[in-house]
Amino acid sequence: MLKQQQTIKRPVSFSGIGIHTGSMVNMTWKPAPVDHGIKFVRVDLDGKPEIEPNIRNLGDTTRWTTIGTNGTVIHTVEHVLATLNGYGIDNLIIELDASEPPVGDGSARPYVNLIKEAGIQPQEGKREIFRPQEMVHVEVGDSLAVVVPSDQLRISCTIHYGKTGLDAQFLSLAIEPETFETQISPARTFALYEEIQYLVDHGLIKGGSLENAVLIRNETILATEPLRFRDEFVRHKILDILGDIVLLGRPLAAHIITIRPGHSCNAALTKALANLMEKEQPAPVAFAPPMPAETPSEPAMDIMRLLNVLPHRYPFLLVDRILKIEGEEKIIGLKNVTINEPFFQGHFPGHPIMPGVLQLEAMAQVAGVLMLRSGENAGKVAYFMSANNVKWRKPVRPGDQLIIEVEMGRARARIAKAKGVCKVAGEVVSEAEVMFSVV
Ligand SMILES: [Zn+2]
Repeated sequence: MLKQQQTIKRPVSFSGIGIHTGSMVNMTWKPAPVDHGIKFVRVDLDGKPEIEPNIRNLGDTTRWTTIGTNGTVIHTVEHVLATLNGYGIDNLIIELDASEPPVGDGSARPYVNLIKEAGIQPQEGKREIFRPQEMVHVEVGDSLAVVVPSDQLRISCTIHYGKTGLDAQFLSLAIEPETFETQISPARTFALYEEIQYLVDHGLIKGGSLENAVLIRNETILATEPLRFRDEFVRHKILDILGDIVLLGRPLAAHIITIRPGHSCNAALTKALANLMEKEQPAPVAFAPPMPAETPSEPAMDIMRLLNVLPHRYPFLLVDRILKIEGEEKIIGLKNVTINEPFFQGHFPGHPIMPGVLQLEAMAQVAGVLMLRSGENAGKVAYFMSANNVKWRKPVRPGDQLIIEVEMGRARARIAKAKGVCKVAGEVVSEAEVMFSVV
């Protein structure tokens, strides 16, 4: 999965009819800054209202995915969003002068062409990828979806409608820009004739035609060009899922396994994932670790250099990086606390907090770096002798960034004293005076 946020290099436009209204629509994509996210803007309305594609703003999902806030809606957002998901575009302004994007040929191909025309611009910000740690399961009508943990986005989809002309189709794909472009984006919208008759009769798909959908009537496939893949339909279902899960609001790394998916089931799945996200990995607060303002008197240490100094190893290495070393007196370390820490499994299931004694251990390790990095102590180990005035002030949870500040006191022979403070988001979570010997 991409680690850095992305936008596009230059504005691009695409026009065509909307499937819902049948009238002409103009769509313009514009680059957006880091952490802006994807926003739709209705430029045809007073005040140019903005709508964020987020599950909070979910509207109708009967045949397509609609989003809306304060009475302003946008229909059929899924194919545009799928394209942005496929290429990992995080920040974009999408201007529309109607209530839906132009449908094109019913696939994502026109939007892929837009991406090519615009160019992709990598950005400085880190992507906050959501990696669910437990299984999620939803069922809506005949549709079913299960999500299992995975370090990349993968979709396995089966469709089977028990109708003639539409055999069961199955496809499992890891989603990368290249696979999206070649395997998924060309797959067109399809509809069963009996299902859409109502929509046609009621003028709900004024723009619908064989120009932008494949129609299945009994044994016959009606389309303006032959099928683009033998299993084009299951590919289009994967396209829709990719678009619908953008409403999660964060990039997803997980394996989605689904049978007969539809927009309602995709939305239910996204909601369930959003709830889990809230519980497991609250969105990180904007917070910059106290990086040294002045040039450090000595370079900070990355993990590789740390491993040369400290004898500790997983799961007992409790510092990821040294941010700053000031002479022999002061040192600041950093530990990213993630849900993957082994101690969270039992401390406590359903209510993960970092054990306070491990924060003490982290202080000792950071202090140890200061002691053990000097040539005369190389290869030695620092043993804890005592801890005084220990105070635990706030719980440390998954997603927190622990900043460990240690000030060395007097060192006599092989015994050293230090005062340690652990902070999260600038607030003290624990403090102690520790004493250890270097052996
Ligand atoms: Zn679709």
